[in-house]
Parts: sequence; C-alpha cells; structure tokens
Amino acid sequence: MIEARGLTRRFGGAVALDRVSFEVPEGAKVALFGANGAGKTTLLNVLCTLLAPTEGDATVAGHDLRKASGGVRASIGVLTHRPMLYEELTPRENLEFFARLYGVEDAAARVEELLRRVGLWTRRDEETAVLSHGFHQRLAIARAVLHRPAVLLLDEPETGLDRDGLALLDELVLRAPGVTVLAATHQRERAEGWAERAIDLDRGRVVEPSPAPAGVGA
Ligand code: ATP
Repeated sequence: MIEARGLTRRFGGAVALDRVSFEVPEGAKVALFGANGAGKTTLLNVLCTLLAPTEGDATVAGHDLRKASGGVRASIGVLTHRPMLYEELTPRENLEFFARLYGVEDAAARVEELLRRVGLWTRRDEETAVLSHGFHQRLAIARAVLHRPAVLLLDEPETGLDRDGLALLDELVLRAPGVTVLAATHQRERAEGWAERAIDLDRGRVVEPSPAPAGVGA
C-alpha cells in the first residue's frame, strides 16, 4: 500500500532522507522510529506530497507520488504537527468544510458521528480557537479519518492527548481495521500495543528492521 524506492530529500547540502526504501502492505500498522532530526517528518511530508523528493519515487495506494499526487492526496488521511484546522470556524464547520472538500457522501451524519466519538459534540458550535491543545488534536483526528482514507500518515499523533484521547486514537486510527498506518512516534512502549512492524531511521537512512514488538507476530 506504501512503496518507497530510494527516496532522497536534500535541504541545500544537508541530506534529510538518504535512499529510503520500504514497503507497507495493505492494512499493516507500522511505527516509524528515530531520534530527533532522523528524518521522520521529512519522510511523512514527502509521502503526503507536501515535499517533493530530490530523488527516488514512491507509490501510495497505487498512486505514483510524482505523476499522480492528486490520487495520493485523495487516498490519505494526515495528522501532522500543524493541526490544519481553521481556528475561526467551529469544530462542526471545520469538519463540514473538509467533508465537502473530500466529497464525503453522508457528510452530515459522518460529521455528527465523529464529533460524538471524539467528545466534541457538546462543543461543536464553539470557536475552535478556544479549544484546548488536546481537543485540537481530537478534532484533527476526526478530520484525518473523515473521508475514510485507505492510508493514514501520522506524525507523533499522541501529542497532547489524555488517557481517553489516547484510547480514541487507538480505536479510530492506530487500530482501525483494514486501514494502512505509518506513524512516527517516540513512544516505543506504546507502539508495542498497536504496531506490527517498525521502521527505524537514523540520520536519514533506514536501519535494519527492528524485531517485532513482544507478543506481536512471529
Ligand atoms: P523530530 O523527532 O525532532 O521531529 P524528525 O525525525 O521528524 O525529527 P525531520 O524534521 O524530518 O526529523 O528533520 C530531518 C533533518 O532535515 C533535520 O536535520 C532537519 O534539520 C532537516 N530539515 C527538515 N526540514 C528542513 C527544511 N525545511 N529546511 C532545512 N532543513 C530541514
């Protein structure tokens, strides 16, 4: 479902990604590990078409990153450090806007369902700007899964979430049946609960595959 072939991204003379190749099968849940500056965000930004690779190529949900970036964008849900929400709109207006953008058919019902599931139904008509950090993240989770994407690309999705928020993240995103997940995280212990596999980055390169988390797979 995700296939990266020799992805390289340079910023001036600095190499942030260095010939990164890997495959993520459909429905797999994969954790992306690496120290600060290892290239995790850069890799996710390349895969979600925010950044062009300097060299190499990738396909996401069968769409070529370079030749069919629109197809890639239609197939993915994204959660990054930037919440990508309109602060002056309400949570409901934000989700309705993105539902229109993605052409979600049952938009009103889907928006209500997600607002209820992330605990924002009673606050649906307040300005997003007044919501706490954790509620911004919950709304961003709802936005990421709104159009039922086949692939979720997530950058430290745990940020700001309390225990209930983390449970929501697991249910709606990290353990979503059939959905392919690639999530950058520093929370290795937590990842043992949801990830079948890990990709380790070190200074832009993929290091040898990590063993499967205890109790998961063979
Ligand atoms: P963290 O865990 O701190 O979020 P990361 O693994 O996500 O780190 P990246 O943000 O991908 O790491 O950064 C990889 C390297 O690329 C770093 O050396 C960073 O300084 C560099 N880099 C990232 N974006 C840019 C940019 N826009 N311009 C110049 N250098 C950049």
